[in-house]
Amino acid sequence: MSFSFLDVGFTYRSLKSELDAAHARVMESGHYIGGPELEAFEAAFAGACGARHCVGLGNGLEALVLPLRARGIGPGDEVIVPAHTFIATWLAVAQTGAEPVPVDADTDTMNMDLDLVEAALTPRTKAIMPVHLYGAPVRMERLRALAQARGIMVIEDAAQAHGGRDGDRSVGALGDAAGFSFYPGKNLGAFGDGGALVTDDADLADRVRILANYGARRKYEHELAGGNSRLDPLQAAYLAVKLKALPDWTARRQEIAAVYLSALADTPNLRLPVVAEGTEPVWHLFVIRHPRRDALLAALHEQGVPAALHYPVPNHRSGAFIDTHGHLSFPVAEDICATCLSLPIGPHLSTDDARTIAGIVDQTARRV
Ligand SMILES: *Cc1c(COP(=O)(O)O)cnc(C)c1O
Repeated sequence: MSFSFLDVGFTYRSLKSELDAAHARVMESGHYIGGPELEAFEAAFAGACGARHCVGLGNGLEALVLPLRARGIGPGDEVIVPAHTFIATWLAVAQTGAEPVPVDADTDTMNMDLDLVEAALTPRTKAIMPVHLYGAPVRMERLRALAQARGIMVIEDAAQAHGGRDGDRSVGALGDAAGFSFYPGKNLGAFGDGGALVTDDADLADRVRILANYGARRKYEHELAGGNSRLDPLQAAYLAVKLKALPDWTARRQEIAAVYLSALADTPNLRLPVVAEGTEPVWHLFVIRHPRRDALLAALHEQGVPAALHYPVPNHRSGAFIDTHGHLSFPVAEDICATCLSLPIGPHLSTDDARTIAGIVDQTARRV
């Protein structure tokens, strides 16, 4: 018996003829930067999110950095981020020169604790950057109200949550702007790096597009001191093919999560993820917690279950932030990092696979 944690090759094999056709079309088109394939994907992805604009970018990190830059956020400013997230959220803020101001996690959902956000706001706060971590959408109503009352931005870090929903709105259309990643392992992944900004704000989309293209709308007219961060048409053409399969792949993730949630509901010592009321998660990761996590992880590996860790080191204890944030304490985030373990989930697994894995996890969690 052997399962893989992630199998990006599965996504190629299951759409091979369409992806190969997309590849041939782009190669023969003579357009390798910009052009109709990119525009078609941008329109399709904006539509899928229920937003007006999508700007393809080089990666997910840039999709978080550029909306901050576009609004002049930088040194002296503060941006609220979750303490518990992939470090890119913090790095995006730090890259602008602004300060990431972390808020501890909610112990049930593992997302940013919305009760702690208001106390973290200061006159310097310019934006709130919630993360739909593990594919679980943050309930956004309170955040939007807090931000609107102060005239600050809400930028979703949507890198793990393509297709997720909060009420009747999709991830990508829940704040002022959203940054997506198309890193290969994400729910919607390219075959290389990629990212996108999604927004209803035409001016913001325009500024981000310029910033990602040397600050220029037209060649040699450099309006802004921009950089280079573009989604290439080859990746865009692949993504357009994969976008059509995303609802089926998401449904498979949701079926696997349902198997885990019911099969492990009574396992002693195991803590399962709690879904926030009114949200529809897309299960980028299925993260459980166990007090003897390292023993459980080792025992699962011995039995051919490739569990993984997301994320073992709290951001404020990482080398990147130890000098600026190491004196802070975020008890819930620290506890999640010490006890979390991710079970395999994805369209490459069947619900039978999930039942087998859940059986092993249940037995192992009882004895470690
Ligand atoms: C993957 C990820 C990013 C960054 O995306 P890249 O495309 O790898 O730059 C940002 N935030 C979160 C939460 C992520 O998981």
